[in-house]
Amino acid sequence: MESGFAQILLEYSPDALLLLAPDGSISFLNAAAEELFGYSRTQLLGADSSLLLAEASREDFHGVLAGLGAATARSRQPFAGSGRRADGTEVPVEITCSVLPDGAGAAPQAGRTVALSVRGTEHRQASSSGQPQSSAGAAADAATHRRRTPAASSAAPAAPAAFADPDDELRAGLLRDQLTALPNGTLFNERLAAALRRPDPVDVLLLNVDDLKSLNDMLGRSSADELLVEVASRLRNCVRPHDTVARLGGDEFVVLLTECLDADAVARRIAESLLEPMRAAGSLVRPGVSMGLASRSPQTVDGAELLRQADAALTAAKAGGQHNWLRFRPGMLNAAAHRADGETGLRRAVELGQISVHYQPVVSPGLGAVVQFEAFARWERHGKVIPPNQFLPVAEQSGLIREIGDEVLRRACAEIRPWLAGDAAYSVAVNVSGLQFQNRDFARDVLGIVASTGVDARQLTLELTESAFFDANSDVLRQLRQLREAGVRIAMDDFGTGYASLGRLKELPLDMVKIDRSFVAMIRTGQEQLPFFNTMVTAAHALGLSVTAEGIETPAQAKYLTDRGCDSLQGYLFAKPAPASDLAGTMESALTAIDKVDAAR
Ligand code: C2E
Ligand code: MG
Ligand code: MG
Repeated sequence: MESGFAQILLEYSPDALLLLAPDGSISFLNAAAEELFGYSRTQLLGADSSLLLAEASREDFHGVLAGLGAATARSRQPFAGSGRRADGTEVPVEITCSVLPDGAGAAPQAGRTVALSVRGTEHRQASSSGQPQSSAGAAADAATHRRRTPAASSAAPAAPAAFADPDDELRAGLLRDQLTALPNGTLFNERLAAALRRPDPVDVLLLNVDDLKSLNDMLGRSSADELLVEVASRLRNCVRPHDTVARLGGDEFVVLLTECLDADAVARRIAESLLEPMRAAGSLVRPGVSMGLASRSPQTVDGAELLRQADAALTAAKAGGQHNWLRFRPGMLNAAAHRADGETGLRRAVELGQISVHYQPVVSPGLGAVVQFEAFARWERHGKVIPPNQFLPVAEQSGLIREIGDEVLRRACAEIRPWLAGDAAYSVAVNVSGLQFQNRDFARDVLGIVASTGVDARQLTLELTESAFFDANSDVLRQLRQLREAGVRIAMDDFGTGYASLGRLKELPLDMVKIDRSFVAMIRTGQEQLPFFNTMVTAAHALGLSVTAEGIETPAQAKYLTDRGCDSLQGYLFAKPAPASDLAGTMESALTAIDKVDAAR
């Protein structure tokens, strides 16, 4: 109650009040400060306090801050100089700088927090009472005056000496990203260099919005921009006021954490916050974001080095799929070399038949049975099983994906055929990469393999991710129609992670959607309100599509999704992918899990 009252007093104080974090960035400001300087709160939080001073006054001001002693001795110093407003005009200010006692800062952090009480003194001499006006009033008056008499300061003896310094204004503009109002790369680099001059921990988290081009193509430029603004705001909400969130370019953001005790926790918080779907162009979408984290070490030479490390971690995270973050490890700098090695090794693996296939059951809770097996490529190398996210990017870059795709399809059909046994209720699902459609005869080749292995085309499902459907460089839609005419079913994999709106599904040759595991992971207790599941399932059913949920790991998730009408479920709860030789054990495990889920309902 008491602290709430204090908060209100601070907020509505006629004096402009600000708090500076130990690194000089603004961690709090009240309404009068917004009004005095003409910036919004979001523009100033986290910004360096120098932004509020005219160039000529900055050095003196920093001198005053540096001269402040501990909270007891010389803890309060006056400063008089020129402030600088958002529109570039200058305003004479008197500032009382006070060091707050330890622990009184807005943010829990080491170092001293400084409070600034600022008065705009433009009208001071002109005030008949001789009393200083409140800063907010003075600023408002000054602003009004400027608007009404743009070139007539001589006609108004009380007018302020409002000097707009074009260089200063230009600099302020050059330091901010136009779209998100976040600091840009230049300002970020300045702050990173300043942070590295101090002995405290420094962490850099580099973020990339995957596939910004598809986002622009599918949503239109302005909706894609809205998403980027939303990403910016979520990032800001995940960090402390004195941390810096900057936008480096189109799809690249960066977070600078100073004096942070657990940067991994911040990365986790950010990853979680970005998983929550965003609203754009009338539908819920969730841009994939990859992140790389690097922390200062005794060997860190400079900011560029730290950024290079964060970039290497980002590249490694991207190879691991969307919504991934990784902390830098020195081996990552050699990743490019490893990739080349990987390509030669992968080519040999294909030649030597080291690409094998594992199968995971898909269950129908309604039927209480396994209705499908999904095939996943595996590379068995030096006795180790390498998962696809580690070699598929190499396969795609090198073109080997064609051979690997054919091999997986051929094996899957041959190995699952005995189980299929011509029963129309059973099927085998095979993942295909969008790049395979660049082969104009892909559909014909698929049908050839299916026929040669004796599988009924109606028992094959091909899974493609959203972006593959919209690849303008291939005739994917024509080939998918050809496949469907022959009976093959088509599934949209990882549904929800791309940008396809529900409305666009009806234009596609499609039979089912598979809800991505990252959505399913949001179900923890089963008591959550997650309305987008209802939206997805209802919209898919309205279009005649069936719905599978991937990545089911708990009975609560199975129950939640069954109750919302999902037609089939897949995940470790039922069985992990395993070789064809374990098919019987896999099925048994799945049936046991179905019984447990049924018993819990
Ligand atoms: P996907 O098709 O969406 O497959 C689901 C992935 O999640 C598989 O990983 C599967 O093993 C894993 N998974 C299944 N249930 C669970 C669960 O309950 N929890 C967790 N944490 N994971 C689960 P995997 O095998 O590593 O495959 C990753 C992705 O690689 C696949 O995602 C698919 O997009 C791609 N992929 C796999 N095999 C092939 C292939 O033969 N060709 C192509 N083009 N892509 C493939
Ligand atoms: Mg799949
Ligand atoms: Mg998937």
